[in-house]
Amino acid sequence: RKMKRGGGNQPRFNLFRGWPAFPSLLGQGGRPGLRLIIAGGLLLVMTAVMATNYIWTSRQQRQQALLSLRAEAQVITAQFMSMRAFIAAHQDRINYDSQGRFEFKHLNPAAVGKGVADLLRRNSDYSIKQTRLAARDPENAPDAFERQALIRFSREPALKEIFAPDTVNGLPVYRYLLPMYAEEACLECHGEPKGVPDVAGYPREGLHRGELAGALSITVPAERFYAALWTHRMGYLGFTLALLLATVLTLYLLLERLVLRPLTQLQALAVRMGQGDLAVDPERIEAVGEIRELAGEFGAMARQLRRFYEELERRVQERTAALQEANRQLDQANRLQAEFLANMTHEVRTPLTSIIAFTELLLNQVLGETNQEQRQALRDIQESAQQLLTLVNDLLDLTRIEAGRMELHREAVDPLDLLQSCARTVAPLAQAAQLHLEVDVPLELPLIDADPDRLRQVVLNLLSNALKFTPPGGRICLKARAQGEEVTVSVSDTGIGIRPEDQDLIFEKFRQVDGSATRRYRGAGLGLALSRHLVEMHGGRIWVRSRPGEGSTFGFTVPSWRGHRSRLPQPAARG
Ligand code: ADP
Repeated sequence: RKMKRGGGNQPRFNLFRGWPAFPSLLGQGGRPGLRLIIAGGLLLVMTAVMATNYIWTSRQQRQQALLSLRAEAQVITAQFMSMRAFIAAHQDRINYDSQGRFEFKHLNPAAVGKGVADLLRRNSDYSIKQTRLAARDPENAPDAFERQALIRFSREPALKEIFAPDTVNGLPVYRYLLPMYAEEACLECHGEPKGVPDVAGYPREGLHRGELAGALSITVPAERFYAALWTHRMGYLGFTLALLLATVLTLYLLLERLVLRPLTQLQALAVRMGQGDLAVDPERIEAVGEIRELAGEFGAMARQLRRFYEELERRVQERTAALQEANRQLDQANRLQAEFLANMTHEVRTPLTSIIAFTELLLNQVLGETNQEQRQALRDIQESAQQLLTLVNDLLDLTRIEAGRMELHREAVDPLDLLQSCARTVAPLAQAAQLHLEVDVPLELPLIDADPDRLRQVVLNLLSNALKFTPPGGRICLKARAQGEEVTVSVSDTGIGIRPEDQDLIFEKFRQVDGSATRRYRGAGLGLALSRHLVEMHGGRIWVRSRPGEGSTFGFTVPSWRGHRSRLPQPAARG
């Protein structure tokens, strides 16, 4: 089913097309690839099988050849023994003349045997010899091999023959020895009485029937045999090697074409897909069987991924459009807010400023006499207007900061001047609230890198909080110290303090420790939020340390002015 799916453009499988000149034997990261493992494994296994077969067959061949050599020797021996038996059986006919008189003709089995053997040796490279340890004819005396064999025959009566390789005159031969036992016909010349000369004049050996009389020794030349064996082996070796090569090559070719190549192509596709190219077409891979199916699944996967991807893209586009719309609305809202704030500034700050100015005129009795009571009312009006102005200013600043529209005008600022001026500003208020104000700022402080107006705003805010939350008789301390590349400023009081769980919250806008309690103290919860923003815009940090009932210390850092580390000597008084 799957193979049909891609049927249209699927290339026809061709085993012999498109071979890489040298397919890489190594996989990724230089590790042995499938090709190396398969080629190596095939070669190893096939070589082992073929070598075993070669060795076994060679042995068999040799064994077979030896058996036939032995059979040959056996036939020759049997023939020879038959001839001897025939001569022995007809001795009485041979050794009588035509008148019936005994006449020894020297044609006993041994003599005939020797004569035939001599002729055989002359006519062929085979040789036959009748031998015994105590030979009558010195020509029949045993050589070393035969002597060994005769001794073995006499010791092992069950031994029927001996067949073994040997060398004679430097040439390879096979030796075959057959034991000969004394028979009735032999005893006439070789039996008792021992030592008495027989018909040929040799002393009798005193043998008994069945006793070992000697051996028949045949020497078969083996040179031709070995040469034939060698030719055979070489031929077989050649055949084996050709078979090995053909098998390994065929298997490898099939594997390469049916498995490895399509796998490599699939791998390349997977890499492309991994790099984000989903337009791959695995159906074009030339493969058959399971790998064809794998490629089909791969194609299905790629198409599925493509669908997911398109769906994802469509959704991203939808979301982007929605986001753009939201942004547009937000922009509009921001613009409206900015317009509203600009209007607020104008509509609220301007009348407030004139209220404060006119109240001032009235208080200074420029516009006419005012009595005690009226002046008190005017002071209340002025204070409230001032508070309202501060609130509006804080709100405007905070909004500007959050809209990213606040800019710092930084310069080298002398912290001593700035802090002393702040202290002077709040000094009358501290006095009115019966608080002791202390300033602890050393002369040798480095200049700082700050917007003086904004920094003043922070310090005044911390000081006015301290004044606000410290009961009469308390102490307020404004302190500064140089620390590394920064200057640390702190405002401590002996006021009501802040609970640990509230200490993080108070730096957020509109946060006051206790809404109802704070109603006793005026404020909208903007000062610390604004201070935090301003300090952070300077690249500093702000924090609080406080214990309820014991007092609070607010601290912040400002970076020192680079290149102006040392303060110029300057006469200045301490607060
Ligand atoms: P607010 O205008 O209410 O003072 P702030 O942001 O300046 O607003 O302060 C937030 C809250 O933090 C205050 O309402 C008060 O509860 C607490 N707070 C600030 N400074 C002190 C202080 N020195 N001692 C005790 N509480 C303080």
